[in-house]
Amino acid sequence: MDSETVAEWIRVAAASIRDQRDYLTQLDAAIGDADHGANMDRGFAAAVERLDALDEPQLPGALLIEAGGTLVSAAGGASGALWGTAFRRAGRSLGDAEQFGGAELAAVLDEALAGIVELGAAEEGDKTMVDALAPAARAYRDRIDDGVGLADALAAMSEAGAAGARATVSLRASKGRASYLGERSIGHQDPGATSTAIVLEALERAAGAGG
Ligand code: ADP
Ligand code: MG
Repeated sequence: MDSETVAEWIRVAAASIRDQRDYLTQLDAAIGDADHGANMDRGFAAAVERLDALDEPQLPGALLIEAGGTLVSAAGGASGALWGTAFRRAGRSLGDAEQFGGAELAAVLDEALAGIVELGAAEEGDKTMVDALAPAARAYRDRIDDGVGLADALAAMSEAGAAGARATVSLRASKGRASYLGERSIGHQDPGATSTAIVLEALERAAGAGG
């Protein structure tokens, strides 16, 4: 995997979020303020524009850091700050590498999660994006540690992310705007966990295609 993989990840994520923008906004309308689809779409579209505007080839880590900075400034909302931190931390974990493999991608996911947890202080079960990203990072690392192939590890990752997002329906929110609803947040899927599953599926597609 290399810079092309990272650029493809961001492009595929931006396209899928654009497709599901209204759905994400509907989820946020139920337990938040109905802007999650717009925030994520604006942020990822700006990240793609930023990538397109770079005239020099960049290292994979630098691309993630660029994308993260763009998400912080363009996306807005809790999710913009959280994803921005996640991508910047993930990018730093790649250092100056021109290429990276399955083990480095495990560190990318772990660092992205660590950045989100450090900034937002959510734990698993709080009904946030952590409920998709944490099981996904764990499933991926378990497969890589077991020595299974990249494609299988990526598939396990994105399945765990999607399952984690679905499982937020029965949770009560204790972080972010949805927590204001208390018990009434139960019965609705978390928008941020849902978009996280979309971003992880984009990673599976991008990394599976090139790597
Ligand atoms: P805002 O809540 O500012 O309107 P968004 O609607 O874009 O921002 O994003 C809402 C999502 O952000 C939630 O569905 C949840 O997944 C995520 N979120 C909110 N607070 C936190 C937090 N402290 N830690 C992790 N994720 C969070
Ligand atoms: Mg919102």
